Amino acid sequence: MNSLRNKLRTFFYGRYGIDQMYYGLLGLYVILFLLQVLLDWEILHGFCGLVLVYALWRTLSKNHAARRRENQVFLKLWGPVKTELILLRDRFRDRKNARYRHCKHCHAILKLPNKRGNHTVICPKCHKRFSVHILF
Ligand SMILES: [Zn+2]
Repeated sequence: MNSLRNKLRTFFYGRYGIDQMYYGLLGLYVILFLLQVLLDWEILHGFCGLVLVYALWRTLSKNHAARRRENQVFLKLWGPVKTELILLRDRFRDRKNARYRHCKHCHAILKLPNKRGNHTVICPKCHKRFSVHILF
């Protein structure tokens, strides 16, 4: 038993491990797998496997510098997508009580109370006034 444990310890020593890109690849795998099941596209079958193999290969890689660079690129691409997804979630959660609008000057996102009509808003970020029309 100790021999197996030592072999595993030796094998995993110095491996890169799990990072944010690993979780992103797993999420992509789940999405592709569900699409494959729902749409029955043969081309997705092989692509799902490639994504999973690539995710596992990255965790077992010993080239930490290259994997770190890949993760940085992934985080740079994923950041704006994640922000939009969070905003979508918040808009859905607050759909009865609030409206989200962009500031016309600095493009900051403002959460406004859901009151119909024309309103003058002062942006808390740039402190400039602008008008907002809320229909419903
Ligand atoms: Zn502003």
